[in-house]
Amino acid sequence: MERLLDIEGLALESNPVALVLPTLACLFSTITGGRKSYNGYQVLRVNLTTTRAYNTINGIYLTNTFDFLTPPNRDNPTDLVVCPEQLLPLKGLFTTLRIPYEVAVPNLEKLIQPQEIEHETIENNLRRRQSDGAMNWNAYQKLSTIQNWMEAQAHDYPQFAQTENYGTSTEGRHLKVLKISTGGDGTKPAVWLDGGIHAREWISPATVSYIANELIKIAAEGESNENYKLVNSVDWYINPNLNPDGYEYTQTDRMWRKTRSGNSGFLASAFGCIGTDPNRNWEYQWGGKGTSNNPCSQIYRGTSAASEPEVKLTQDYVYARREQIKLFLTFHAYSQMIFTPWGYDDVPIDDKEELMLVARNAAKALQSVHNTEFQSGSSPELLYAAAGGSEDFAKGKAGIKFAYCYELRDTGKYGFILPPDQIIPSGEETFAAVKSMVGDVMAYYRVPEFEQSEQIIQDLRLK
Ligand SMILES: [Zn+2]
Repeated sequence: MERLLDIEGLALESNPVALVLPTLACLFSTITGGRKSYNGYQVLRVNLTTTRAYNTINGIYLTNTFDFLTPPNRDNPTDLVVCPEQLLPLKGLFTTLRIPYEVAVPNLEKLIQPQEIEHETIENNLRRRQSDGAMNWNAYQKLSTIQNWMEAQAHDYPQFAQTENYGTSTEGRHLKVLKISTGGDGTKPAVWLDGGIHAREWISPATVSYIANELIKIAAEGESNENYKLVNSVDWYINPNLNPDGYEYTQTDRMWRKTRSGNSGFLASAFGCIGTDPNRNWEYQWGGKGTSNNPCSQIYRGTSAASEPEVKLTQDYVYARREQIKLFLTFHAYSQMIFTPWGYDDVPIDDKEELMLVARNAAKALQSVHNTEFQSGSSPELLYAAAGGSEDFAKGKAGIKFAYCYELRDTGKYGFILPPDQIIPSGEETFAAVKSMVGDVMAYYRVPEFEQSEQIIQDLRLK
């Protein structure tokens, strides 16, 4: 059992039922016609600058009765989804406790399913139809479209593109990696990219597949492309959809985050009691801060480390290539941040300055494209601690020195429901950041074609 409430706020302690009961009521009423409606749901943004406000909201967070889009944080706004029945009691509580809040999204359903042209779904469907099911980056694509596109690349460019299914998800979908390699004996330094571990973060698979496509264009062009060394001196392993079951389920429930393992059935699904948070499930410092043992929680860590096949199989795949992989990048949304390890706690790390140098250079390169600002630092420094994340596994267990987690666009205006016309800008700027990271990391490892900036080598080596 999680603590129900363990906070200073007297009002909440005296009347927790007022919040919990409406929560149950709204959960019962939201799945209709095979698709979950978010009509009347609001996203509230609270500022937790006082200890009392922080403790109160953190207490609510720990009850697992609200969907926090960003866990409680003192330095940045905290966003949470509130169903219609919860709105009055919660706003009343905020007023009583003098916690400042604003309505960030007045009706979540309108953002997901808008009547106007900027509606994500209508515009997205329109764009998808226009492209006749083929892959493009004007719309968020279905899993099958992305995976078929990966196969098509391998078919069209066998000289440098290959796919590999390294296992299946709980519901039997492929864990598919696209390998880009111009040859060699598999000992070239490599980069790992993954996306979609959290199902509702649609900009992640879109951005990761965009980057894969850019790399393929570079490889296809060959020596004449100024970036050819990116593919000729480096091998790439790219899985845009690490959580294929969850991603598929977001066609039914756009706000689904977790995997789809565990007890099935309407009630369990309605309460969010199935699935594990796959980014709390990796086998390094598993079960620590920012995780829950409650299966109904959005941050449920699973029954054991790597209990999820998606995590276990990916861990094994990365671990087997740990000597080759020099840069491990995992992509999430939203917040516009680049996280260095460690994520599990605010503890020192030996090579912090090197990790930060590479991250800051990447943020600068990113900003130079569309002037989008990203912060750099560890997750506990910038937002919150979260144990069992993939970049901690990559660094802590697999020994990959340069491991990072990106939180892509935006900073909360649209949150997970980022309009599809931001996919290409996100892809362009993120690719610039990835190129910068590859340049720095390959310079660090003295990969010949990258050894151009003596300054970077010195900065990285002499700390
Ligand atoms: Zn995420």
